[in-house]
Amino acid sequence: MPPISASEAAAGPPPPACPIATEHHSRFCPTCSSRLEDSRCKLICRTCGYFLSCADFY
Ligand SMILES: [Zn+2]
Repeated sequence: MPPISASEAAAGPPPPACPIATEHHSRFCPTCSSRLEDSRCKLICRTCGYFLSCADFY
């Protein structure tokens, strides 16, 4: 087995290359910019009624 540095990449902290990834569980409404509330398998906007199902954001 060659001494590759694959373990270092897996053990090290995630690189700050994709800041959007940190918002994967907190989405905002594209219509009114309100925060979407997590309801089971959906994200719902209480302001305008917009929602995303899990099939849309996973
Ligand atoms: Zn909304």
